[in-house]
Amino acid sequence: MSTAFLNHFPPIFLIFLFFATYYIYTYHYCFCIVKSVQLRIIFMVFLNVFAIMFLWSFFATMCSSVGKVPLEYKFSNNKHRNLINSRTEDEKDDILETFCEDHNLLLYTCTPTGSIRYCVRCMHIKPDRTHHCSTCDTCYLKMDHHCPWVNNCIGFLNYKNFLLTIFYTYNYCFYYIGTTTSHLKQSFYGMNVATDVPITAAYGLAVIMGLVTFMFFWYHFYLLSKNETTLENIHPPSFIEDDLTFDLGTCQNIIEVFGQKCYLWFLPVFSSVSSGHIFIISREIRNEYNN
Ligand SMILES: [Zn+2]
Ligand SMILES: [Zn+2]
Repeated sequence: MSTAFLNHFPPIFLIFLFFATYYIYTYHYCFCIVKSVQLRIIFMVFLNVFAIMFLWSFFATMCSSVGKVPLEYKFSNNKHRNLINSRTEDEKDDILETFCEDHNLLLYTCTPTGSIRYCVRCMHIKPDRTHHCSTCDTCYLKMDHHCPWVNNCIGFLNYKNFLLTIFYTYNYCFYYIGTTTSHLKQSFYGMNVATDVPITAAYGLAVIMGLVTFMFFWYHFYLLSKNETTLENIHPPSFIEDDLTFDLGTCQNIIEVFGQKCYLWFLPVFSSVSSGHIFIISREIRNEYNN
């Protein structure tokens, strides 16, 4: 089986599950069970709002670019060869430092040994928060993680879309649970195989998916409030000075990703603040005597 098919399988499977639950809710529940026309319309309107927002966010995450490293960080073939052939670490550091000075590159993070971060595969200096994805074989700005469910990396340009995808997924699931629970309770002892079995199967799926995405969303919201990516949460970055941090306080951290225009917060369109390769930093308050 080809790798391309295997990579596309998880998002196709997810979309299949979505349309299966959508069909079950629309036909088996709304048209076969719900008798009131007004209630039917209300249920369908809300379902479609969640469905459209989920699909929009999902495809925006899957199809949008993640954030490429700007050209000014890129080494020429000759320079790259010189760097690779340098015999000592000091010689390597000199080449990297001279390049940064010549191109006015601003870096606050470094390797754990204090050197400038460089990607040998992509032949460029890594801007702060940039990481190389081994699956995509490229570096991405503010890389969070590689997500097989959208077959794409999650990084600077699509992180907000990713958060909205999991937000609308759990809302879609909870909406399904909330509107079908009372019917399933009533029909528990006299189940109609044709309608109630599909509704129950989709209900079980909604419970599992809803809980998983709910926990996942709030884990990411916690990271967002601390201005950390998943990778930074696992391996905290090394700063050139010990007390530097990307954490600007919960409100500013949320604004950095969602932007200042509140009306765009719930739409999967890019509204993040910052360039993606230079981030505002602040100094950690170590104790009550520091400012
Ligand atoms: Zn790379
Ligand atoms: Zn990737």
